Amino acid sequence: MDGSFPAKVEVLVVGAGPAGLTAAHRLLKAGSQVLVVDARRRIGHPLRCAEATEPGFFEDLGFEPRPTWLRWTLDNKLVMLNRPRLEEEVAAELARLGARVEPATAVTALGPYERGLRSVTLATATGPRRLQAHLVIAADGVASSVTRMTGLAGRLRAHELGACLAYRLQRIRLKHPRRVLMHFAPELRPYYFWILPSGPDEANVGVSILAHRGHAAALILESYLRRSPELAGGTIVERITGFVPSALPLPTPYADGLLVVGAAARMVDPVIGAGIKHASTSARHAVESYLAARRSATAADLASYRLRLEPTYGHLHLSLLRRYTNVQPPPSK
Ligand SMILES: Cc1cc2nc3c(=O)[nH]c(=O)nc-3n(C[C@H](O)[C@H](O)[C@H](O)COP(=O)(O)OP(=O)(O)OC[C@H]3O[C@@H](n4cnc5c(N)ncnc54)[C@H](O)[C@@H]3O)c2cc1C
Repeated sequence: MDGSFPAKVEVLVVGAGPAGLTAAHRLLKAGSQVLVVDARRRIGHPLRCAEATEPGFFEDLGFEPRPTWLRWTLDNKLVMLNRPRLEEEVAAELARLGARVEPATAVTALGPYERGLRSVTLATATGPRRLQAHLVIAADGVASSVTRMTGLAGRLRAHELGACLAYRLQRIRLKHPRRVLMHFAPELRPYYFWILPSGPDEANVGVSILAHRGHAAALILESYLRRSPELAGGTIVERITGFVPSALPLPTPYADGLLVVGAAARMVDPVIGAGIKHASTSARHAVESYLAARRSATAADLASYRLRLEPTYGHLHLSLLRRYTNVQPPPSK
């Protein structure tokens, strides 16, 4: 075993997005030994999000929001996060609280659950490493390899994925700089554009489109910008890309020695692509289930996690149904 990595950890959290950071913080507060790994070289970077969420996210996360974590406040009690700053600084806080946080470290293999442990292979900057974990929390996002390695889920197909492209636009002239605009374009139904102001004269403006049409996203978004008097002529200061699941959440988001949280469990609203709050809420429930089971990590003892998710699952199921039935009447002449 490599000297710089522990041979055994109580909880391995895979992914340092909103779900992984929430789970890690809650576990630390309960006295667990936590290792957080993330494939990204720098936690929080690059940004793959439009950053709008509910303030309740901070309650799940367990930190008071710092001014540097917020870009702007919106109507309907929504906030625009600064996710790169937030994730970087929360990861640093977790390290101060005793977690081990390893960027540039990816889980590449996960063994079966044997004698109460999962063996894990990690790819690190200095080569492969192996360790054993009593519990693995899969917070590895929409492309989750952990759920595939453990057979909990297959790969999402093109019609179950939204390909997203967003621009951070500056020097625009918004009539209502705190108003969220979602535009469900008839030609793209059930996909959509969004305008999420992130300051008096700036916004995150994007499109989500079925993944197999992802190559057309830039063309479609730019034509949308040209047609909008409020956005035309703005300066693009950042390009943001990524995928969102547009499928039902995992029927069984747990197994022996494993809990699946956030986008890895497909907990993202399939109509509007909102997944930050679902990520933090599912991570909170996952940790609560583990602690309620007195840190037993057998599937039978972790099953209460699924029950705790019932309201979230109800919402996501209804939302997917709406996605397929939201047939709007043709415009009246
Ligand atoms: C363009 C775009 C705009 C969006 N806008 C919004 C929005 O405005 N509001 C909203 O609520 N939601 C939005 N979403 C959805 C939201 O970003 C996700 O639902 C949310 O980030 C999910 O959080 P998570 O922690 O589950 O996963 P993620 O934030 O995806 O984090 C997963 C982490 O796991 C790491 N990882 C992956 N595989 C491995 C591995 N094998 N080993 C180690 N680490 C690994 C990744 O590097 C990543 O850091 C948007 C998504 C996109 C693509």
